[in-house]
Amino acid sequence: MTVTALIEDQLRARASALLSDGTVEVFLGYRQGSNPLRVAPFAARTPAEAERLVWNAVCVPNLAGALLKHAGRRVGVALKGCDARSVAQLLSQRQLDRERLHIIGVVCEGMADPEQLAAAVSGPVDELAEDGNELLLSVGEEISRHPQDGMLLAKCETCTSHIPELYDELIGEVTPAAAAAPVGDRLAGVRALEALDAPGRLAFWSEQLSKCTLCYACQTVCPLCFCKECSLTLPRDDPRRQTREPASVFSFHMMRAYHLAGRCTGCDECERVCPEDIPLSLICRKIEQDGRAQ
Ligand code: SF4
Ligand code: SF4
Ligand code: SF4
Ligand code: SF4
Repeated sequence: MTVTALIEDQLRARASALLSDGTVEVFLGYRQGSNPLRVAPFAARTPAEAERLVWNAVCVPNLAGALLKHAGRRVGVALKGCDARSVAQLLSQRQLDRERLHIIGVVCEGMADPEQLAAAVSGPVDELAEDGNELLLSVGEEISRHPQDGMLLAKCETCTSHIPELYDELIGEVTPAAAAAPVGDRLAGVRALEALDAPGRLAFWSEQLSKCTLCYACQTVCPLCFCKECSLTLPRDDPRRQTREPASVFSFHMMRAYHLAGRCTGCDECERVCPEDIPLSLICRKIEQDGRAQ
């Protein structure tokens, strides 16, 4: 049995037990998504529904945002280390009640990037399987093997929280790899930008942000953007939004970054959901770096 299959079995069993004995009203995890490379947040309400929970190499979405929607209820949740950091931040901002949470921390050595996986094969993936450190992608009759290490999300390359910092119970094996310090430099991209002169940086961001459609998916998905009404988003029929006015785009991103200073946990959800592939994580990391320097 693979490591993730073992975790999936344990998660289903624990979620079922917690729902059965009334410890929690809902258990939040993942269900299979619309294709084998996607999972979606899923709230199991009965032990039978707990059987739909999945754990695999592409459990990418941060469940902290979904957890907020169940605030006020007794909720069980499966958290990777990066998601647990977001939940810790929500607790410190008094958006969640620790007494009402039962957290199952899951040791995580990294999640694969679904976009990289999709790009590695010639057609729609019919099945994703795991064999040791390799991911097996089936496209029709063809099966290709891909080392998982070469397909990781960028944030996993420099992860410092393979073992969650916050949990009531922990599942998964604490291997030497999980306990090891990160090898990469999470601020490398920021440093590369800082090496440019001011006109160079302006040109970089002007080009990137010229793609922004002000769809606000980045704000909507962010677990730390929890304001009931966002003061920065423009109504759909506002001419500045319809014309993607550059000043409005710049001010949205600048102001959002400052609102999240000291709160952003670098989960990269904003960048993941951006339909225009704008490297929003560079903004988050820059704010993080400046915050550390103070
Ligand atoms: S950042 Fe860390 S905890 Fe989060 S998915 Fe990657 S390896 Fe797992
Ligand atoms: S700004 Fe982006 S990286 Fe930071 S917490 Fe929000 S979604 Fe995560
Ligand atoms: S961008 Fe600012 S105002 Fe809008 S939801 Fe996020 S923190 Fe709140
Ligand atoms: S998700 Fe991307 S396109 Fe949409 S508002 Fe955010 S940066 Fe702009």
